Amino acid sequence: MTLKINEARFLSYMAKSSSIGATENNGLNRLTLTEVDKEMRDLYIELLKEAKLEVRIDDFGNIYGRREGKIKNAPVIAFGSHLDTQPCGGRFDGILGVIAGLEVMQTLNDHEIITDYPLELINFTNEEGARFNPPMLGSGGITGNLTKDFIYDVKDSDHVRFEDALTAIGYKGQEANRLKEAKSFVELHIEQGPILDNENIDIGIVQGIQGLTRVNVKVKGVTNHAGGARMKDRKDALLAAAYMMIAANKMTEEIEGLRVTVGKIDNFPNVINVIPGLVEFVIDMRHDRDEVRHQAVQLIEERLYELATEHNVSCEVHRGWEYNMVPFDPSVIQKIREAVNDLNYSAMDLYSGPGHDAKYMSTYTPTAMIFVKSVDGVSHNENEWTEDEDLIKGANVLLNTVLGLAQK
Ligand SMILES: [Zn+2]
Repeated sequence: MTLKINEARFLSYMAKSSSIGATENNGLNRLTLTEVDKEMRDLYIELLKEAKLEVRIDDFGNIYGRREGKIKNAPVIAFGSHLDTQPCGGRFDGILGVIAGLEVMQTLNDHEIITDYPLELINFTNEEGARFNPPMLGSGGITGNLTKDFIYDVKDSDHVRFEDALTAIGYKGQEANRLKEAKSFVELHIEQGPILDNENIDIGIVQGIQGLTRVNVKVKGVTNHAGGARMKDRKDALLAAAYMMIAANKMTEEIEGLRVTVGKIDNFPNVINVIPGLVEFVIDMRHDRDEVRHQAVQLIEERLYELATEHNVSCEVHRGWEYNMVPFDPSVIQKIREAVNDLNYSAMDLYSGPGHDAKYMSTYTPTAMIFVKSVDGVSHNENEWTEDEDLIKGANVLLNTVLGLAQK
């Protein structure tokens, strides 16, 4: 049986969310644990109750909406995402997964369906990490990837502690209310990349989250006068760094699927008529396969030292933050695939570049993700956009995936 959501009701829920913390340019500014976050949470809880769900709040402020199943005391099928946003965020990042989850519950009510396993919809606290860094504190806490002491002591830029902010908006719940035992977790999210939009494909069946290595590079030359030093005598750190960045970028032509970014650079002394003597930058390298990424990192490291010699400077290279690819669960992926096929939507397998709550959840229970198009791949930006028809398709896939997972 292929069930479909109530489109008008779902879009009206999305519109309600879009009005809380709205910015002038159609985006949202709903930083975690602020007054606007509280306003959204209060409304959300009303909607959960309207959907006849049993509401709980845990000690990280994660909000659960539970719907009983036929099997008593069984592990739950969990799904959800986050309602917090970046300061200049969009209307869809995270929000889609939570609001579509609410609509899934209402659709089941409409059709008087009782699933075999119980269902729990989760809104995770502080996925974005924009106010309290690092991100994904709510999912990190309940999965044991981060300790409660660590999370409670994280401070925002005004030195406000996470725990105090949580208490201030009245959302510090009980540890006993945390997710207890899950059979699986599924998260619907916008892609935050351009692949589905460019290929005009409805649904991304997410295979995992890409691994990442940050290569920190320090290039040392000699600071000198722009007029005095002859070209052949110079030790120009910035020029050498430029060649290094081009070399890193060129590697993507040889290694299929490699993503290389230099987004941050410090140039010293950064003065118009002074040859730069010191440059520091970071190369962010990502790939779906860990062994390919490791190989690419090794190759670029060798190339950086060669280029330093060629350009008469010295360099220090060391690896910074690094994590391996997080593979999603084949059985949950299979349920998503079946739902997509039943609904006759087009789909492709892909990997997520950004991290998500699903990354931590995958360490706790079998997990996978569903992606829908982001127009032009834009996200973390007020111009983030997904068309209604794609939001609806995503919600329908979530609905049928949950139904498949919840069947004994
Ligand atoms: Zn998100």
